Amino acid sequence: MFNRFFRFALMALLIITGNILSGPVMAEPAIDVSSVRLGLHEDKTRFVMEMSAEPKYDVFLLADPYRIVIDLPELDWRADDSGGRQKGIVQNYRFGLFKKDTSRVVLDVGGPVTILRTVILPPSSGKPYRFFIDIQKTDEVSFQRELAERRSNLSERSIALVAPEPPAPSRKYTIVIDPGHGGIDPGAIGKSGVYEKKITLAVSKRIHKILSKNSKYNPILTRDDDTFLSLRERVTFGRQAKADLFISIHADSIGRANFRGAAVYTLSENASDDEAAELAKSENKSDLIAGVDLSVQDDTVQGILIDLAQRETMNFSVKFAEMVTPEIAKSGMKTRGRSHRFAGFRVLKAPDVPSVLVELGYLSNREDEKILKSNTGQQRLAQAIANAVDKYFETIDP
Ligand SMILES: [Zn+2]
Repeated sequence: MFNRFFRFALMALLIITGNILSGPVMAEPAIDVSSVRLGLHEDKTRFVMEMSAEPKYDVFLLADPYRIVIDLPELDWRADDSGGRQKGIVQNYRFGLFKKDTSRVVLDVGGPVTILRTVILPPSSGKPYRFFIDIQKTDEVSFQRELAERRSNLSERSIALVAPEPPAPSRKYTIVIDPGHGGIDPGAIGKSGVYEKKITLAVSKRIHKILSKNSKYNPILTRDDDTFLSLRERVTFGRQAKADLFISIHADSIGRANFRGAAVYTLSENASDDEAAELAKSENKSDLIAGVDLSVQDDTVQGILIDLAQRETMNFSVKFAEMVTPEIAKSGMKTRGRSHRFAGFRVLKAPDVPSVLVELGYLSNREDEKILKSNTGQQRLAQAIANAVDKYFETIDP
């Protein structure tokens, strides 16, 4: 099902971009990246990647916070990832898959910067191709000018333009399962080093599998591999699929290591408590982490007011949220106090799709992490959520 949708989306994308291919698409040999590092020079900071071939690339700037984004073809990252990530004006950087066929590097910089030059040197004296970018501090006005000049050539993937296949004649409930994070955005990192994006994908696939066995349901995953999706793309996906239910799966971390247990969240302008507010803030950072250019989006989602339709949607979201917590409690995972909480999660902003965000547990807590990493723990959590789905549809449509 998902593959079919994905092929359809990809086809549409190719047609939209005007690259109609006559034959089968041949995969280009991947380019290996063998080294990534920062260098500090007298008046500039240099970011260097060593790679096996010369890639095409696109560099642009983002404000709020200040970032430099480098888009490249899909790369095979073999670089040692343990070196220092802070030098000169660069405060941190990350790299990974942004979307199919596009790898991305995001450099977080401490203030307005200018890109002095980007160069790819051919192999010489035993060194492979070297890509480098030299960065220097500048003033705000020059930064804004350069930002406008270097607009991203990449728009978001065009799922917004492609509807998934329409529901079968005998009406099934469409449930969109949304594994949080992915690709360049690892999400939270557990005590043992496990990435949230892996846990969310593993549990989501299990939920998908359980629901697929019931002919009442048409479950769809927003992603079924390690790719990044912006929050807006996730929301759009749910709306395009005309989902009856949207479930975003997460397993975050929090500063306090003794905090543990699952919790279920719905959208609200005001947060139920400080912890929910903190969590929404960190979840909403996903787009910043991946360098999504929010300034070029015609953001129908960001500005949505809670209108009547949404209020009705909200009632259904809350109804489902209240059914999830007791099921998770039965699965053996601890749950946190009140049955559900609420805050301003951007991923829950579809006005017409009942949406919840499930935090399966905290990766910052050792016991929770153990459950989240284990097959049994994952299966139990998936089953608990599937049980809640059953209960929910029995209630609203007996
Ligand atoms: Zn998360």
